[in-house]
Amino acid sequence: VYNEAMTTRVESRLALETQLRQAIANDELELHLQPKFCMDRRIVGAEALLRWHSDEIGWIPPNTFVALAEESNLIVELDTWVIRKACGLLASWKAEQLQAPQIAINLSAANLGDLSMVELLIRTCEEFDVAPAQLEVELTESALLTDMEQTRDALRLLKSHGFSIALDDFGTGFSSLSNLQHLPISLVKIDKSFVQELGQSADAEHIIRAIISLAHSLQISVVAEGVETEGQLEFLRQQHCDEIQGYYYARPMPWADLVQFLDNRSRAACLQQ
Ligand code: C2E
Ligand code: CA
Ligand code: CA
Repeated sequence: VYNEAMTTRVESRLALETQLRQAIANDELELHLQPKFCMDRRIVGAEALLRWHSDEIGWIPPNTFVALAEESNLIVELDTWVIRKACGLLASWKAEQLQAPQIAINLSAANLGDLSMVELLIRTCEEFDVAPAQLEVELTESALLTDMEQTRDALRLLKSHGFSIALDDFGTGFSSLSNLQHLPISLVKIDKSFVQELGQSADAEHIIRAIISLAHSLQISVVAEGVETEGQLEFLRQQHCDEIQGYYYARPMPWADLVQFLDNRSRAACLQQ
């Protein structure tokens, strides 16, 4: 049964979809980068997060438009844009003779079963003369569950070319860590919902402990995301978590700010020596 409210909703979704298509074509999207740190505060990489500023609507959060793109075929164009942009950033870093951190990109579950996405990654790295080891691909658990066999082939191909693979939002899905031993995953990211419940829920502590110890027994590193407080950081340090990402150390920022951020830190390190 169709009512007026539903029609309006469908119309506004279609309008948003058209605007997103134009935004991709007109290069109106941006990648912001959030540094990832190891426990001694060295930067080990940065995660690329999509930002869209529409003149008509203002800032639109990625959760909204990524989901929209996933429901239409736009996700292929969106992922392609992200891959090209990330490679472009790495190439410009190289051109300025700066040492670039590894960049992690989020790829949609929808495209993973399809080997053409893997081929696109390989071709784009070649085009921009970027080493695949400079890129990490973040996938969510649900991406792995849709078609295990095809996914495994895609991940193995990625790994054999030198890309690193991280499992995002870990703990929120239904996959068990035992599935991981058959997949070439180098990093799991503990979902921020667990980190943010630290101090309020004993369950969150147990889950984090279990993820870290099981991942380590499979030689997989662990990063905790959404770290906002000293208390959360301390707990994670005690549990031997390998890496930290969150507002406590740094928020996502435009590329130019990240270059400045890295520059300030290396100057400060020189002064301390
Ligand atoms: P995600 O991959 O789990 O990304 C982490 C989100 O947590 C980001 O939100 C980041 O800004 C936020 N965050 C980081 N540190 C903290 C913290 O300390 N506290 C809190 N409260 N939040 C923190 P963002 O940028 O809004 O992205 C939301 C989601 O949108 C991402 O979740 C990811 O699923 C999706 N997304 C973002 N960029 C892309 C992309 O390029 N491609 C695809 N397919 N999805 C993307
Ligand atoms: Ca992510
Ligand atoms: Ca995440």
